[in-house]
Amino acid sequence: MKPTSEQFREHVDEALADWGLRAALAAATGRFVSLRQDAFAAFPEGGALRDQARTIKEEAIARLDEHLEQLAFAVEARGGNVHFAADADAACRMVIEIARQRGVTLAVKSKSMTTEEIALNEALEHAGIRVVETDLGEFIIQLAVEGPSHLIAPAVHKTREQVATLFREKLGYSGEDSVPALCAFAREFLRGEFVRAGMGVSGVNFAVAETGTIAIVENEGNARLTTTLPPVHVAIMGMEKVVPRLADLAVFLRILARSATGQKMSSYVSLLTGPRREREEDGAQEFHLVILDNGRSRLLADPELRESLYCIRCGACLNVCPVYRAIGGHAYGWVYPGPIGAVLTPAYLGESRAPDLPFASTLCGACADVCPVKIALPHRLLDLRARVVAEKKRTKGNDAKSYVFRAWAWLLTHPSLYRASAKLARFALKPMAKDGRIDALPGRLAGWTRTRDFPLPAAEPFHARWRKRWSQPSARDGTPSTTERTE
Ligand code: SF4
Repeated sequence: MKPTSEQFREHVDEALADWGLRAALAAATGRFVSLRQDAFAAFPEGGALRDQARTIKEEAIARLDEHLEQLAFAVEARGGNVHFAADADAACRMVIEIARQRGVTLAVKSKSMTTEEIALNEALEHAGIRVVETDLGEFIIQLAVEGPSHLIAPAVHKTREQVATLFREKLGYSGEDSVPALCAFAREFLRGEFVRAGMGVSGVNFAVAETGTIAIVENEGNARLTTTLPPVHVAIMGMEKVVPRLADLAVFLRILARSATGQKMSSYVSLLTGPRREREEDGAQEFHLVILDNGRSRLLADPELRESLYCIRCGACLNVCPVYRAIGGHAYGWVYPGPIGAVLTPAYLGESRAPDLPFASTLCGACADVCPVKIALPHRLLDLRARVVAEKKRTKGNDAKSYVFRAWAWLLTHPSLYRASAKLARFALKPMAKDGRIDALPGRLAGWTRTRDFPLPAAEPFHARWRKRWSQPSARDGTPSTTERTE
């Protein structure tokens, strides 16, 4: 998927004008949020498991080199092949080479954000290898020639009617618009592709260093068919997906499904250790594991952003984000949307290629509250904002806004002057106000009020009200009333 994050503002304007998209997002994210809430409410050990997951990730990432070495050794000891890819091009070349050597002309794929990140489908198609996505959401967006708009629900922006129209146009579907009918049609269509495919390509949710096992979670069963029916299985993982021990899976599998879809456990959990062995009836005859860097080493060396490597791609931070809920995933311009995308995209592509994304947040903190591995997303966004501003200052010097904020900061540290200027501001702005607010500031300041409320400074400012309340006898003993505290 070619990144277009530089055009974030244009994407936002388009998304906000699309009421169908906003309705679809509100319905889907609202459902995910309440499912997650219910799941954790009925799971008292959830808090402790999140702490445990965080600790495991910290340990795994702190000794990533050792764990990757152990993983590679374990995979090869069980008959698999391991390939390290420095970047997207290298990873695509490796997969194409594997396919060519075995004369593969058709590959089936299960859902994988890492393969979206490296644009594997485009590379394989370019090399003359047809690729068929087998996850229903991915299948839909492949037909629509679009990228995913959510980490776990790639076609969340599409309505049932849109999917039916797509199937009619691209596959000659003639059935009704109901979900069961559409699913049955897709299932029937994909079965034949599974049988004909010479190679199955999957992602990896977790890779266990001590055993060389990869874990894949899903709800449709297509990943299981992708990894076991074709003779060759290629699994592609970002290098941060490694966990030290098999026992660690017991922690992650329980919080991943709850955070993502509110399930106790995903419908299918596949643990694959190397290719099919003698006397085994199922499984690919050949197994390849491609371990991708593609900018992750840079993150590893960055003390501020390193924790973004702990992400297990559950999508919970997207569902609660007021910005994502309004604009959807495509506006972010690359594969990773929402709060984690606003961190990963500039971190992977460089801040200059996604300068607006760190600002696409209200910093409300809801994302950090739900993150199962407790990534401090608002703080990481602030770190990136500081970098973007510093870079802008270095290349273009200070802009007018930075002088305004500097003056504001100075004023806030001089209380008497601040109070006097607040009074003055009310006096100066009053002629422009209607019903206590100013609809449009004049001249170059008009941009500020185009999308924001601008209330007239209060006649009795907050600090004056606060002082008055605390000077009352009931408050002087240090216990303001409930009303006072909540106002
Ligand atoms: S940052 Fe946290 S909440 Fe967001 S997708 Fe990653 S693990 Fe899930």
